[in-house]
Amino acid sequence: MTESQTQPDETPAVTEVHLRAALDNVPSYVAGKPAVERPGLTVHKLSSNENPYPPLPSVLEVVTRAAGEMNRYPDMNVAALSQAIADEFEVPVGQVACGPGSVGVLAQIIDAFCDAGDEVVFAWRSFEAYPILVALAGATSVMVPVTDQGRHDLPAMAAAVTERTKVVLICTPNNPTGPSVTAPELEEFLAAVPRDVAVVIDEAYVEFVTDEYCPDALTFRRNHPNVIVLRTFSKAYGLAGLRVGYAVAAEPVADALRKTAVPFAVSTMAQLAAIASLTPTAKAELQERVDVLVAERHRVLEALTEQGWDLPDSQANFVWFPVGERAAEFAQFFDEAGLVVRALGTDGVRVSIGEPEANDRVIATAAAWRAER
Ligand SMILES: *Cc1c(COP(=O)(O)O)cnc(C)c1O
Repeated sequence: MTESQTQPDETPAVTEVHLRAALDNVPSYVAGKPAVERPGLTVHKLSSNENPYPPLPSVLEVVTRAAGEMNRYPDMNVAALSQAIADEFEVPVGQVACGPGSVGVLAQIIDAFCDAGDEVVFAWRSFEAYPILVALAGATSVMVPVTDQGRHDLPAMAAAVTERTKVVLICTPNNPTGPSVTAPELEEFLAAVPRDVAVVIDEAYVEFVTDEYCPDALTFRRNHPNVIVLRTFSKAYGLAGLRVGYAVAAEPVADALRKTAVPFAVSTMAQLAAIASLTPTAKAELQERVDVLVAERHRVLEALTEQGWDLPDSQANFVWFPVGERAAEFAQFFDEAGLVVRALGTDGVRVSIGEPEANDRVIATAAAWRAER
């Protein structure tokens, strides 16, 4: 121990500095629980919708090489990655803005649009980060309940827009309930919302969508310049730990998002890993994994339906058990079976799709829960 550590800390416990009052309204993010070891049991972490597969060797190699340069700052403009994204989706590079995960980009969006008292409309239950980011900006969350099938109620969301609404967030597929909005629904919604309100379409799980009625938000941007498409490398691309996401938006908006970005927030490793993930070979390899996860989602949902569960459709890499008040108990039951899952309040429990043996255990544990009740 050093000298200073042995001294009692004499810093006064009270301080007179003025923290922003808005912080009092910020809910804490409850992250997915880490996996706890259980002797004799392989524990599966199914609580954060992560990709269960390890990084692609080609991506890992690029990151390992880049790690040797961590004494250098990253490219603040994220130029090469923005260009790679622009090429991939055939949009002008000026419409691409990157950030540290799409949560980071969403913070940039809220910062760019919201002053204190402005309103942000989104569905609830939806992504836990939304009310946090809105409250941090001193803005007001207007939460519109999802339907009993866990779907966005887009007409009600359109009706919730007021003159104070700056942003609407649409999470499709919706985390944690699973369904996607449909293209006709979205078209109708965009026609109903004033064109000076930004509509963020959070497509964190778009790569897992198989329903042909689901929109590709990028195509909606052509007729609706107020649409901001938000995507991430965290889920299908398996780079959650590296923190990189992006928005595609009208050029003045993309410019604004570069202004509200924390400088140097996207590391060199993250930038290079994302670029390496967009090469044709990597894309093909990643697609194989996505195909397996989607097939597993179908298998899990079918098995659960056979057991008698009535779960919402999922277009993502997770399923939602709307068990209400029993959410904590249900999650504990899974925990004891070596499955770390995510209870969300008294609404339900979200279970990520993992490797086949993890999913087998999910199916068996869900059956055991029914048998015991
Ligand atoms: C996981 C997730 C994200 C992605 O977060 P990152 O910051 O990119 O890791 C964004 N939106 C939703 C709805 C999510 O579930």
